[in-house]
Amino acid sequence: MRLEMDSLSENEEFARVVVAVFLSRLNPTLEEIDDVKTAVSEAVTNAVIHGYGGGVGKIRILAAAEDREFTVEISDRGAGIADVKKAMEPMFTTDPSGERSGMGFSFMEAFMDQVEVISAPGQGTKVIMKKRIGA
Ligand code: ATP
Ligand code: MG
Repeated sequence: MRLEMDSLSENEEFARVVVAVFLSRLNPTLEEIDDVKTAVSEAVTNAVIHGYGGGVGKIRILAAAEDREFTVEISDRGAGIADVKKAMEPMFTTDPSGERSGMGFSFMEAFMDQVEVISAPGQGTKVIMKKRIGA
């Protein structure tokens, strides 16, 4: 499954639901669906807020299912991340407003089995997440 959409906050719910419907072919539990929706939501929100900083760009979502292994990729061509390791630390945020808690990547790691982030400044960000369904 491949989806490309504009980085508008009103598309965040759409992305969550589309991925959840795709996931349903693996007969997930309600908890597994919620876990995946939360992780996708965090990654898409990051692309909207940090990647494009409120401007409009494209967000791509890829989903695949092989046996019980579910993979979802969320990518943007926005600002990118200079230090991925640091960005993924719990409570690390570059948001100056005090509204963000810096827990997005921690949630993704908690709810998915594997989270890989490929990013560089000016090159955008790709978040690849995997989860075994019905483990
Ligand atoms: P929260 O998710 O709790 O609202 P947050 O978004 O700051 O806060 P994380 O989601 O963990 O926390 O992200 C940590 C930091 O990584 C962000 O503050 C931002 O600097 C950077 N980041 C994350 N995703 C992207 C992205 N797609 N493009 C550019 N920078 C990103
Ligand atoms: Mg976040």
